[in-house]
Amino acid sequence: MKLLYFFDEHIKPRISRGLRYCNPANTGILSEAISCIRQNDVNIWFYRKNGAVIAFDSGHLNFPGMDQAFADIHLDPIEIKHVFLTHVDVDHAGGVDVTGRNIFPQAQVHIGKEEEQYLKGDMHRATKLGFIKIKNCVRLEYGYRLIEDGEVFKIGAIKIEAIHVPGHTFGHFCYLVDDKVLISGDCLAINQRGGYAFFDFFTQFPEMNKKSLERLEGLLSEKNIEAVCTGHSGYRTDTDKLFAFRHESATFSRSKPFDEDAPWDFTKY
Ligand SMILES: [Zn+2]
Repeated sequence: MKLLYFFDEHIKPRISRGLRYCNPANTGILSEAISCIRQNDVNIWFYRKNGAVIAFDSGHLNFPGMDQAFADIHLDPIEIKHVFLTHVDVDHAGGVDVTGRNIFPQAQVHIGKEEEQYLKGDMHRATKLGFIKIKNCVRLEYGYRLIEDGEVFKIGAIKIEAIHVPGHTFGHFCYLVDDKVLISGDCLAINQRGGYAFFDFFTQFPEMNKKSLERLEGLLSEKNIEAVCTGHSGYRTDTDKLFAFRHESATFSRSKPFDEDAPWDFTKY
């Protein structure tokens, strides 16, 4: 049994009840260009323009109901020739894991260069109780492409700028699409007050993440960001507050949930 996949499928949904830290967008078409699929606590994002569709992240391993989810957003996954992963955690890279059903069978997979060490087992993902070292168990089919910080891709008429935002994981990337849509992965947790550094419990290097957010804010300061597509905080258009609390880590507890609007049990929706 692969430990993090077991945690992701069986433990996390139970221990998360009542904590209300995840508020993903429901599966749907959000604008002319942007649509998403919700898998419990996480979103997979799609950006469409002039017949080309790019996917960002791939969700959990063997998540049920995907055929219906694709039908709901009028998307044939065969159309998707590129998927950019923000990082290779089980809830973002599981959908293209070689041991499961590949939800994007025709797609080139792109990952941050520094993420490869998790796939090879050269680096553990987390240390718990001070001494238990846990490895990521995601395995991708050979042929994935490694991304460098600052790389710019042109796919059809879509421009994608890759920004290395290490901290949540060592090779975590954000993607700036057409200079106006940010795919933020798990560097930020956002609620009604604004954006915070992502929860420490799930973040491998919290201080590094905060430094990366400072750099990201600087890089985006000249851009007019219209929307942010997050890993676990849904779709946000209130982008003026995106970095409002980037010095602080987001927190949650049963008495003080992170997001009052988040579902009590994210498996029910
Ligand atoms: Zn995540």
